[in-house]
Amino acid sequence: MPNSMQAGLHLRSRPSLLQSAFVSVIQASRSLATHSEPYDTVVIGGGLSGIPFSGVAGYVAAIKAAQLGLKTVCIEKRGTLGGTCLNVGCIPSKAMLNNSHIYHATQHDMKHRGIEVSNVSLNLEEMLKYKDKAVAGLTRGVEALFKANKVDYIKGTASFVTPTKVAVDLNEGGETELEGKNIIIATGSEVTPFPGIEIDEKQIISSTGALSLQGVPKKMIVIGGGVIGVEMGSVWSRLGSEVTVVEFVGAIGGAGMDGEVAKAFQKILTKQGMKFKLNTKVIGAEKVDGGVQVKVEAAKGGKEETLDCDVLLVSIGRRPYTKGLNLENIGVEVDGKGRVVVDDQFNTSVKNVKCIGDVTFGPMLAHKAEEEGVAAAEIIATGHGHVNYDAIPSVVYTHPEVAWVGQTEEDLKNTGIQYKVGNFPFSANSRAKTNSDTAGFVKFMVEKETDRILGVQIIGPGAGEMIATATLAMEYGASSEDVARTCHAHPTLSEAFKEAAMAASGRPIHNF
Ligand SMILES: Cc1cc2nc3c(=O)[nH]c(=O)nc-3n(C[C@H](O)[C@H](O)[C@H](O)COP(=O)(O)OP(=O)(O)OC[C@H]3O[C@@H](n4cnc5c(N)ncnc54)[C@H](O)[C@@H]3O)c2cc1C
Repeated sequence: MPNSMQAGLHLRSRPSLLQSAFVSVIQASRSLATHSEPYDTVVIGGGLSGIPFSGVAGYVAAIKAAQLGLKTVCIEKRGTLGGTCLNVGCIPSKAMLNNSHIYHATQHDMKHRGIEVSNVSLNLEEMLKYKDKAVAGLTRGVEALFKANKVDYIKGTASFVTPTKVAVDLNEGGETELEGKNIIIATGSEVTPFPGIEIDEKQIISSTGALSLQGVPKKMIVIGGGVIGVEMGSVWSRLGSEVTVVEFVGAIGGAGMDGEVAKAFQKILTKQGMKFKLNTKVIGAEKVDGGVQVKVEAAKGGKEETLDCDVLLVSIGRRPYTKGLNLENIGVEVDGKGRVVVDDQFNTSVKNVKCIGDVTFGPMLAHKAEEEGVAAAEIIATGHGHVNYDAIPSVVYTHPEVAWVGQTEEDLKNTGIQYKVGNFPFSANSRAKTNSDTAGFVKFMVEKETDRILGVQIIGPGAGEMIATATLAMEYGASSEDVARTCHAHPTLSEAFKEAAMAASGRPIHNF
């Protein structure tokens, strides 16, 4: 934020002067819109991944709108840009996943490679500082992007006054009102609470607390075997915790992960030391003698069991966040799950109010939110914008990684589509063997008649990067033969990807 804008914000203690001072100060330096000259686009929520040139709903929508010539302002209440993803989501969790993997590998995966290491020890304080530094550096990058693209940025909490007017409760005191020809709601999501279990972010934690624990708990229980539960459980398991994941359904990984992959994934994580109690429900939890007692029983009902832990991670999902927006004031429709209802052009039930990201339908993923940000801005500026929801990849950043795009085998069975499967194991891939990192496989699912790729699932090293090729192939309507006839460099892990495509369209060369 430029100094002139900060100066404007400091006038908050004189509310009657505030609005004019605020507007005129920033107008002088950055030609903000006034009430007589409304913004073309007002974005509520500045969520983003924090990676320059990449990001999530609000941030990306604001930059794209400005690039398309629309006078744009973004309002964010957190005080830092980046939303869930940068502050307490994708970025800090990946910093912890990467460094805990290095720590674990240094301890357990060096000797047979001819590398002798001794006295390996954890400096958790330093590891947490590293994560915070990664987050802070990326936040600054995004503020710079706002400046470069002439997006006005206001730190405060927005609520609707009318469909074209929002009141902003400024973080530094006082308030202002902004008028927009178009308003985009991008207010994201929050942790879903577990009824009756109170989160204190020390002993009973959410994913946010799991990113900042000040010590390694001896025993950790994770409620929920979805992506976030498994990722954070994996971090603390590698750092030395005994981790048990309690999951209501019969598989880990959450929606979108193929059943065959989920089974292999659970086996691999079990070998790494994590424990799983599937088809099990948590009934309640309470703090007892410095620990936490968790009561569980079979999902179908049955004998109650008590599990003890030092830290309980509640990770049962996230829910849309619309608190304080006053949607009811302007009549924006919300469904039974709290999601803002939109059509395929991101229009809410109120004219010129759009909605994107976690707060509306679809997978709660940063890159899905980002695509919607671009498309919504394009629709406002040009009348055209599109997101292909059939080609949104998902990645679980454990080791090995799990990644997928398109339909699972279960989806295909349910819809009755005739399909073929091609599988290729990393144990038959030369690079994976050389690297001594062979767990997992690539699985292609293609339409029987046309050979069009319908879904790809990968569990194995580098799956998160490799899935981009599958997504690109699906965007272009490729067949498995197209991939099989594309030259892949040798020796690379991506040869396993090519061979799985060969398996779907014919026969792989390097498998029996
Ligand atoms: C631990 C964890 C790990 C994750 N890892 C990944 C990952 O690896 N990959 C991935 O794709 N996704 C991941 N996600 C999900 C990802 O963070 C979200 O999908 C993404 O942040 C959604 O972006 P958004 O812009 O819709 O919402 P958010 O990022 O939640 O941003 C919404 C913003 O709106 C602001 N806001 C809300 N109300 C108001 C208001 N009234 N006025 C002003 N501002 C307001 C909030 O402060 C917030 O900053 C992870 C999430 C968690 C919790």
